Amino acid sequence: MRLVLLGPPGAGKGTQAAAISQRLAIPHISTGDMFRAAIREGTPLGRRAEAYLKEGGLVPDEVTVGLVQERLEQPDCRAGFLLDGFPRTVAQAEALDAWLAGRGEKLDAVIDIEVPRDDLLERLTGRRVCPRCGATYHVRYNPPAAAGKCDACGGELIQRADDTEETVSKRLDVYTRQTSPLIAYYRQRGLLREIDGSQAIPAVTLAVGQALGRDWQ
Ligand code: ADP
Ligand code: AMP
Repeated sequence: MRLVLLGPPGAGKGTQAAAISQRLAIPHISTGDMFRAAIREGTPLGRRAEAYLKEGGLVPDEVTVGLVQERLEQPDCRAGFLLDGFPRTVAQAEALDAWLAGRGEKLDAVIDIEVPRDDLLERLTGRRVCPRCGATYHVRYNPPAAAGKCDACGGELIQRADDTEETVSKRLDVYTRQTSPLIAYYRQRGLLREIDGSQAIPAVTLAVGQALGRDWQ
């Protein structure tokens, strides 16, 4: 299956992506994770992206589209993929459609996880991530068994530099202005599956399964 996860920052895309990619055996492709890895490694891509991530703005389309296309050309994406955090602009969505069409392929569905804006701030400021394995936690809603330690690999959990109140509010504005038009874009194409992301994590996973015609009970 070729899937896109849509939704504002903090909606639960990364959290659900881990469950969905495991159940469907397709790679989870997070552009945010790719940029953060490039910044950590100090690559030319990382140096180009760093200021945008720090400020909560979007990395320019030509950089992001090139990065995703290169990733989608890898053999593990042949049978499908789950995009998380891409596309984020109409231009990115058009580039993805054109790239897929050139290969005689198309998206199967776009899962739009919706959460009221008031909840997103609490979710993002309480988010903790494992820099070693990428697992995501929340101090209140999804705490690790031992405070500050990753359940999966034992790594030290950190708070993302862009999960401060100030940057979060900028990122939510960027989402409203630049990314939310994709809801209409994909609805018009009959691909949009709207999910209530304010439910507990396992209930959201079940709803995603239902939207894809699967029973993940
Ligand atoms: P996104 O990838 O969309 O930015 P995340 O998956 O990182 O969002 O989730 C943001 C924060 O909210 C994380 O701390 C995560 O543990 C928490 N979270 C995710 N889904 C839920 C949910 N359904 N209920 C409560 N908290 C959630
Ligand atoms: P995320 O991990 O999805 O919250 O993304 C973190 C940051 O990475 C965003 O605030 C942007 O600066 C950048 N980013 C991730 N995906 C994209 C994208 N598709 N287009 C532009 N910038 C992106």
